[in-house]
Amino acid sequence: MNCPRCKSELATEKVIDFNASFEVDSCTSCGGIWFDKDELTQIDKVIEPTFLEIRKIPGKKTQKETLSCPSCDSFQVLEKIEHPRDKKVIIDYCPSCKGIWLDKGELEAIREENWLITIGKIFKWLIGKE
Ligand SMILES: [Zn+2]
Ligand SMILES: [Zn+2]
Repeated sequence: MNCPRCKSELATEKVIDFNASFEVDSCTSCGGIWFDKDELTQIDKVIEPTFLEIRKIPGKKTQKETLSCPSCDSFQVLEKIEHPRDKKVIIDYCPSCKGIWLDKGELEAIREENWLITIGKIFKWLIGKE
């Protein structure tokens, strides 16, 4: 898979927690992260990850750029939702495969409320939309 933002190859990163172990695809170039729906089935059991460094959120203009889904074909455009608590964070998601893209810094911005639980809530909302 290639990064929807900068087109670099995404690298698989293993996240190991006391209760769960799963993989995410991260971009070593721009720092974004792709979450497959299936990668986070254990989401409710995960507590607090420590593998990501603190970074700044990209500007609004960058966040508003249209991105294609790295998992589906390039015609599948990612849709955008604002994070319910932090409106500066715009999360891209795929309406087709239900994957989620976070730009660098976005994870940090939502970290305070346990970001994996937040992502889990978004997945549930996405699945509930079907
Ligand atoms: Zn990238
Ligand atoms: Zn997709």
